[in-house]
Amino acid sequence: MADRDRILVVGASLAGLRGAEALRRHGHAGPITLVGDEPYPPYDRPPLSKRVLTGEARADRIALPSRPGLDLTWRLGTAAVGLDLAAREVALATGERLPFDRLLIATGTRARPWPNAAEAALAGVHSVRNRDDSERLRGALAAAPRRVLIIGAGFIGCEAASACRSIGLPVTLADPNPTPLASVLGTRIGAAVAAMLREAGVDYRPSTRVEALESDGEGRVRGARLVGGGTVAAPVVIVALGALRNTEWLAGSGLAADAGGVACDGQCRVLDRDGRAVEGIAAAGDVARFPHPLFEDGPVALEHWGHAVAQAEHAARTLLGQAGAPYAEIPAFWSSQFDVNIKSVGLTNGADSVAVTQGDFGARRFVAVYGRNGRTVAAVSFDQTRWLPAYAGRIEARAAFPPILGATDQGRVAPADPGFPASPARG
Ligand SMILES: Cc1cc2nc3c(=O)[nH]c(=O)nc-3n(C[C@H](O)[C@H](O)[C@H](O)COP(=O)(O)OP(=O)(O)OC[C@H]3O[C@@H](n4cnc5c(N)ncnc54)[C@H](O)[C@@H]3O)c2cc1C
Repeated sequence: MADRDRILVVGASLAGLRGAEALRRHGHAGPITLVGDEPYPPYDRPPLSKRVLTGEARADRIALPSRPGLDLTWRLGTAAVGLDLAAREVALATGERLPFDRLLIATGTRARPWPNAAEAALAGVHSVRNRDDSERLRGALAAAPRRVLIIGAGFIGCEAASACRSIGLPVTLADPNPTPLASVLGTRIGAAVAAMLREAGVDYRPSTRVEALESDGEGRVRGARLVGGGTVAAPVVIVALGALRNTEWLAGSGLAADAGGVACDGQCRVLDRDGRAVEGIAAAGDVARFPHPLFEDGPVALEHWGHAVAQAEHAARTLLGQAGAPYAEIPAFWSSQFDVNIKSVGLTNGADSVAVTQGDFGARRFVAVYGRNGRTVAAVSFDQTRWLPAYAGRIEARAAFPPILGATDQGRVAPADPGFPASPARG
């Protein structure tokens, strides 16, 4: 590519910033413009459901660190609303059209809203995805509501429950699945999280679906009605129903982009509707759906911090014509809740077996390893990270399951059904 080519990055958050940095690091000297619909420079999201809610971190003090002297042009507070592939232009909400030679798509995800728009609009109903969300919610929590209702026991819901309890607020957490994090960890390991919630004093309601949010008649939420009867009175409701991929702005562009994400090949090159890679356009981070060599069920889209960084680096090298082997970073995430550090490597998708391989499940200090068709596919640690690199190596090597036996800190290894719900329920 020509050294002076104009590179446009749409989405000015983790993947967008790290992608722009990688473009410079790998030698691109031409103009780089970042377009972001949020008014803020890139910031870190993990604290938004943790220390920002407790007041230990301020939402305006979580900027992502960045190398100085990158010479980037910023268009913040400006949404991209369309892409003209033939003209190689991105349309902005302002009516402007930004021409580009190369494009990095990094528009990530947004919080899935409560399905009833009128109920979602009630004062006191919150989600947790961006700085403004968390700042607003922090304000509501600081006012010491008499109860917080959290709908959804995924990572964000459980972390929010942990934050609320650590500042002494009564919390009800309702989720239609039999355990928290059932779709990621399965119910066998999810039971450890259920125990953590209960010990911390969360009024945890598994297998419970919220039917409707109720208004106080003056535009404020006063609680929720549950399917099958019963109500929860709560002037603050946190909707934690997972995420939606920000692909609408690509509608009609000819790119293969839909609710499942922006389809890419193994080099992060975006595919068109016919499945052909489009030269000079790449995607990275939460919005990208891509084939991972370790996962045979077809393309995956990952919502992990480390993946956004690694894939942005790969996409940048692809845009510069420097890509080597296909992107194959092992997925990894962490979560901290109730003073326990949960970490994971690999993907539990489709796992048919799980075994606690190290530590003490009852004490919530253990490693659980997941197998699928006799191969090791994932490992999750609760306050016991030191084994994870070893298991990451086994996952990469597609080692037989269970992969490590007779190791330190290992009792009897008894593989069991992980208990993934047939189709995990939401909300
Ligand atoms: C509350 C919270 C806690 C988390 N905690 C953890 C954790 O503990 N561990 C972990 O591994 N991961 C965690 N994650 C996930 C991690 O933060 C994400 O994987 C990461 O932010 C993805 O980066 P991204 O740049 O791909 O997408 P995003 O961070 O979603 O950024 C996309 C950006 O693009 C903008 N945008 C969208 N559409 C447009 C448009 N049309 N025009 C212009 N801009 C647009 C968005 O507003 C946003 O600023 C957490 C996420 C959240 C929300």
